[in-house]
Amino acid sequence: MSTERVQEKRQLGHRARLALTPAQIRLLDGQAHAARTLWNCLHDWWMMLPRDKRCLAAADAAIRRARKEIDWLGVLPAQAAQAVLKSYFQAWRNCWEHRADAPNFKARLRTVMSVDIPQGRDLNITRVHRRWGMANIPKVGRVRFRWTKNLPVGKHANADDRVTGARLVKDALGWHIAFRVQTLEAEPQPHTGPEVGIDAGVNLPLALSDGNHQDHGRPPRLPDRTADRDKWLNPAEKTRLLGLERRATRRKQHHKRGEKTSRRLQRTYDQIKQLRAKATRRAVDWQHKTTTAIARQYGTVVIEALTITNMVKSARGTIEQPGKNVTQKSGLNRSISQEAWGRTVTMLTYKIARQGGTLHKVPAPGTSQRCSACGCTTPGSREDQATFVCKNPDCGWSGNADHNAARNVLHLYRTGRALVPAAGRAVVRRPRGVKPATAR
Ligand SMILES: [Zn+2]
Repeated sequence: MSTERVQEKRQLGHRARLALTPAQIRLLDGQAHAARTLWNCLHDWWMMLPRDKRCLAAADAAIRRARKEIDWLGVLPAQAAQAVLKSYFQAWRNCWEHRADAPNFKARLRTVMSVDIPQGRDLNITRVHRRWGMANIPKVGRVRFRWTKNLPVGKHANADDRVTGARLVKDALGWHIAFRVQTLEAEPQPHTGPEVGIDAGVNLPLALSDGNHQDHGRPPRLPDRTADRDKWLNPAEKTRLLGLERRATRRKQHHKRGEKTSRRLQRTYDQIKQLRAKATRRAVDWQHKTTTAIARQYGTVVIEALTITNMVKSARGTIEQPGKNVTQKSGLNRSISQEAWGRTVTMLTYKIARQGGTLHKVPAPGTSQRCSACGCTTPGSREDQATFVCKNPDCGWSGNADHNAARNVLHLYRTGRALVPAAGRAVVRRPRGVKPATAR
């Protein structure tokens, strides 16, 4: 027992694209609408009830009765209806514990379509081909999904390693299945790799203190603002996006207030959403590959403690004190948002912990203004967005501004200025007013 390493339970998610026939898509759409309507009915019923009568058992009984009496609610499998009830209660719990606002009605067009399959054994997953797997979806039948990762199914599954459930989610690119996977893994050996500081730059997406910059080869900011729509799209796709946006604007001019959105306008909106979803998927792919490489190579990773929402908000200013240069800054903000620093941090947190490394955060102020060679902060050292030239006559160091900041970040850690260690579980503390994933 002494030589054996400690085993740890891990919960992982894996998302795969579903290949559905038009009839299956209609069935799933119907289930998702029923799930959303069930939520709305539940909310309505809950708000009408006197406070002392509100309890889980009463809600459960009401749902059972409704499923019998309202026939269109019957398209939703019983387990999925129970999952709606569970997430509704979780939403209230999040509200009572001050993590989110009170749950509300779900609008038809603004809600992400999703159906839950809470039990893994209903799925009956098999691999049928190198690239395809099959799973059972209640009331839809057997469907194919892209097999891109080995799941613990069939003879590989046991009490410790198994698929515990799934959620079907629809985005602009169609229906996807997100598996909940539980595995038992040996706790990793401490990672003995080198230390590195990382700066989330504007010119370099991830600048590393050892000069091993992680670039995705996409232009950071384009001088032409119209072309700076989305760097993850290629020129032809960007032109198409611009054209679609113009078409949407034109059609919207003929759209009167309170009138139903025309099918043509809705179709244009869908096409815009598809292009945006494609860009997001490419960005996430790059982030996954990059963060995995970093977590494998380095034992200690140091990052800035940045709060993106504050940075993006601050440019806009308040009504009393409107921000200066809002247009220029919002261009910068778009670059920051597009790099999705928060998502990078989340990925780094769990990937580094899995490799046995540690992640540290240091306070951000001044890292981009200070010289990493002499430690002086001199005015005018940032010649432009990209270059840093130290104005200290004895030093005169010059280099990439993001690289300079990354070296400062590592220096702060080495001199013991790190904040609370961020390794291990990712603790997400949401500001008030942001709903958690379960309430959406
Ligand atoms: Zn200097």
